[in-house]
Amino acid sequence: MKKICRACGTQFPENYHLALCAICSEERQFIPLSGQRWTTHQELVESHKTEITEINEYLYEIIITPKFGIGQRAFLVLSESGNILWDCIPLLDQNIINFINQKGGLKAIAISHPHYYSNMNDWAEEFNCSVYIHSFDKEYVADKGRSIHHWSGESFKLWDNITIENIGGHFKGSSVLIISKLSKLGVMLCGDTMYLSPSMNFFAIMHSYPNRIPLKRTEILRIKERLSNLSFDTIYGFYSYQNLTENVRKIVAKSIEQHLSE
Ligand SMILES: [Zn+2]
Ligand SMILES: [Zn+2]
Repeated sequence: MKKICRACGTQFPENYHLALCAICSEERQFIPLSGQRWTTHQELVESHKTEITEINEYLYEIIITPKFGIGQRAFLVLSESGNILWDCIPLLDQNIINFINQKGGLKAIAISHPHYYSNMNDWAEEFNCSVYIHSFDKEYVADKGRSIHHWSGESFKLWDNITIENIGGHFKGSSVLIISKLSKLGVMLCGDTMYLSPSMNFFAIMHSYPNRIPLKRTEILRIKERLSNLSFDTIYGFYSYQNLTENVRKIVAKSIEQHLSE
């Protein structure tokens, strides 16, 4: 039976025989002090549900309630040439299947980094689409389904001026989605490539957020340069509160300078 790690929400294939979750045992996450616990998709369907929130007419947030895993959210991006699921959550219930189908289904699933792999192959199968993951993070894909497409390079163009941009940092393959038509200068869905603080006034950019492992100064400099070449004025991050629509460039720039200060 496929099992899902309760701590991070990653689903592992039937032939996965390690006692511990490979994602949680990696240095960026942690096995809870109470120990490794598993569940199944069936159990999750019985105990949790998906909740959909409209951010605007082209963008919807999808979360699991009550909270499960890291508390991550996915986004449904509606676009003329095909809808995109950005990042993934491990619950694929009838509620979300019906909602997405009503909106025209999915043409692609694109994922920022390994903390969102969830049960992505089941989503891909349900909606008959591909999953786009940067090739730098290939080694973290435990369930190597046939829908997975590894892209490489800095930028990958989907359609309608929507691109996946590799930023790196948190993971080498960490990527963001840029949707230019959703705001004046473009909307960025960033996963936790950048992590907006509860003050809404600072972005942490780290190797690991829960374990507080910083990135090297050279990496922050490289990310600064990389971000300067992208157009955006709005950022939606990992958690539901991380929606930033005002002073975005200013807050990003100020945060990077703070990371670089000696
Ligand atoms: Zn895990
Ligand atoms: Zn992460």
